[in-house]
Amino acid sequence: MEENLKNNANERTLNFLEEIIENDLSSGKHQSIITRFPPEPNGYLHIGHAKSICLNFGLAQKYGGKTNLRFDDTNPVKEDTEYVDSIKQDINWLGFQWAEERYASDYFDQLYEWAIELIKKGLAYVDDQTQEEIRVGRGTVSQPGTNSPYRDRSVEENLKLFQEMKEGKYKEGEKVLRAKIDMSHPNMLFRDPLMYRIIHASHHRTGDKWCIYPMYDYAHGQCDSIENITHSICTLEFDVHRPLYDWFIDKLEIFPSHQYEFARLNLTYTVMSKRKLLELVRNNYVSGWDDPRMPTICGIRRRGYTPESIRLFAEKVGVAKRDNVIDLSLLEWCLREDLNKRANRYMTVLNPVKLVITNWEDGKVEYFDAPLNPENPDGPKRKVAFTKELYIEREDFMEDAPKKYFRLKPDGEVRLKYSYIIKCEEVIKDEDGNVIEIRCTYDPTSKPGAGPWRSVKGTIHWVSIEHSKEIEVRVFDRLFTEPYMGSIPEGEDYKNYLNPNSLEVKTGYAEEDLLKDSFEIGVQFERTGYFAKDPDSTPEKLVVNKTTGLKDSFKL
Ligand code: ATP
Ligand code: MG
Repeated sequence: MEENLKNNANERTLNFLEEIIENDLSSGKHQSIITRFPPEPNGYLHIGHAKSICLNFGLAQKYGGKTNLRFDDTNPVKEDTEYVDSIKQDINWLGFQWAEERYASDYFDQLYEWAIELIKKGLAYVDDQTQEEIRVGRGTVSQPGTNSPYRDRSVEENLKLFQEMKEGKYKEGEKVLRAKIDMSHPNMLFRDPLMYRIIHASHHRTGDKWCIYPMYDYAHGQCDSIENITHSICTLEFDVHRPLYDWFIDKLEIFPSHQYEFARLNLTYTVMSKRKLLELVRNNYVSGWDDPRMPTICGIRRRGYTPESIRLFAEKVGVAKRDNVIDLSLLEWCLREDLNKRANRYMTVLNPVKLVITNWEDGKVEYFDAPLNPENPDGPKRKVAFTKELYIEREDFMEDAPKKYFRLKPDGEVRLKYSYIIKCEEVIKDEDGNVIEIRCTYDPTSKPGAGPWRSVKGTIHWVSIEHSKEIEVRVFDRLFTEPYMGSIPEGEDYKNYLNPNSLEVKTGYAEEDLLKDSFEIGVQFERTGYFAKDPDSTPEKLVVNKTTGLKDSFKL
């Protein structure tokens, strides 16, 4: 009984997508599943996309299916190969492999033929109205639309005009191809939706072959269908598009892909729209797409997040059917969860004050063994040099300390981690009253491993001045001051909420062995947080980014 309870508790209940898939597989509707991740290559991927990637690739993995990467490149004006490359890199970094790399533009010929088929069936027509006339003609939610005067063109005329559109006879906006459905349909999207518009621009893959480009609603379902996508997963705002997705597939009598919607991921203290992220980059509010404060995958990677932590985050977030905002601290929790087990430890002082051991011989160096990772106490060790002059954190000393303050205070004792117990004997200040030196004595009998262990209440980290290296430490705060950026009033500039103090650059003093670390993953500065090496590092100077602190404010 108890065993059963335990098993049940460990077994996560299926999310609604897993339920659908399991039903489809057990009913024989599908033999195996195919999902796709369909980014538009018009920007860098963000943590919301990471959620979608983990979901699409994760479901296929779980059920022995496959996932295609399909670039939704139907708008030549905004798209670029720079984005294509970064997207592929980001997906690989997250640890996923696509079955096939496809492009919506691969299917332009097929989509064109299908458009002709719909014209022949009397289900599409060329409209000469202006964009504004079309908009007005569509009516409103409470008012039916009106038919275009061009709606009843003959099939022959439509075929001829559509061909001419393709051949470049018309200017942008002069003509469009529309589906002929119902101008008074309660779903506005059914009021003769646009299928093709004219854009005279070079496409990053098809060059100047086309000057007509398919609209999202006309392209997406058919692209899914061509690839036999069984479960086409997208975000909630597309639910009103689903009937139209089905309509085209139905009228063309092609493979019946199905669309399923889940809630998009929102995070506190950040924005996720590509347009806004692009604006932050273009106007130098951040240093680039990969600025460690950005919610982009490349930014998060540079910040020091691991693929494992992002995948764990995606799993913890789950699959919701209602929009919600996830606390940024869950992401941080996931990183700690991952790195606590794996990250090497080092001592680094970020806000130093000098500490002198008065009863220590000048020039004497003693080395202490410290585990690289205490979670693995028998694992590799590092050597930490102890000398007469040390740095400790300013915050670890307090002159008028309350009783419960267990770090260093006048006449008080602490242990310097991995080494001796010291006692504060004297405090030296400058003219302004700032502490510039703390003079202590050490207790030689308190050496770890030599004789009985003596306990004191506080243990602090430290470095030897002579044996430490100067490093640059970039400490970040939230990019915005407002947790719910999605709820700031319409019309108010989101940039008003930028946090002016989101970046602080410090000089840190690190134990020597830090410089020898491979930095394949981030490291932990003991008692401080997790840090990753920044690509701005040079052989002369190590630059690190603070990924997150150690304090765990988030409880699951
Ligand atoms: P944006 O609105 O920021 O431009 P997008 O949705 O247009 O983003 P696409 O490149 O079209 O970006 O998105 C590719 C896939 O990622 C789509 O299936 C989309 O639903 C999904 N996606 C985008 N943003 C999120 C998010 N915040 N949470 C979950 N999935 C997302
Ligand atoms: Mg999109």
